[in-house]
Amino acid sequence: MFETVQVDMIPAGRANRPGAPLDGPYFITIHDTANPGRGANALMHAKYLKGDAAAALPVSWHFTVDDTRVVQHLPVTEHGWHAGDGSKGQGNLSSIGIEICENEDGNRTDAEARAARLVGDLLYKLKLPIEAVVQHNHWSGKNCPHIIRARKNGWEVFLDQVQTQLNEHLGEVDVPMTEAERKQFEALAARVAELEEQHNMKVPTWAQPAVDRAIALGLIEAPADGSSRDFFRILTIMYRRGLLNDK
Ligand SMILES: [Zn+2]
Repeated sequence: MFETVQVDMIPAGRANRPGAPLDGPYFITIHDTANPGRGANALMHAKYLKGDAAAALPVSWHFTVDDTRVVQHLPVTEHGWHAGDGSKGQGNLSSIGIEICENEDGNRTDAEARAARLVGDLLYKLKLPIEAVVQHNHWSGKNCPHIIRARKNGWEVFLDQVQTQLNEHLGEVDVPMTEAERKQFEALAARVAELEEQHNMKVPTWAQPAVDRAIALGLIEAPADGSSRDFFRILTIMYRRGLLNDK
């Protein structure tokens, strides 16, 4: 499953949407918003990026992720200003920028998990390796994404989550069945077992007299176990119609 992306682009022509092509893209740069305020979610950042303050800096990136949604602000074919490595910097010119929200009224664990899934989706779609995922810190030395960096093994765990999503797209792991799929599968398996049993059954009680007669006549060999339900039914009908009388 791919993450759903809500598109809310910075209008073309704004100072923070240069409209210049993104080189590659060769990298995906991970940021934390460093904005812990209430309501500082993905939608609020989308609004911020369309406003004058962001245009004046200028600053822009491609996606903001919070605990409930992903919002896209720039096409992945255009570069933004998020890496802090200048107008000729590889971070700005060849990487997709993703900001992870840390608003106090949001669930940070969910936001990171969602961001990791988005990154896995992008790696798959753009045919990039896991090594393409870098921290903002990689480009400018800034302590960003600061929450992930501050946590022991934070970056490794985040990359593991990304890899899990990428593997799922590459078909390298089994996607767990949904509850509905599991019930359907179990019903089907039960039906197959039932049919299989009917084709390899012991002599049913109701067919025993017919089977005994047929064996006595030398029509079938004993034991008759392992035949199908249809076979026993036909034998019983023949018996009841008097077709298995002694010669
Ligand atoms: Zn950053």
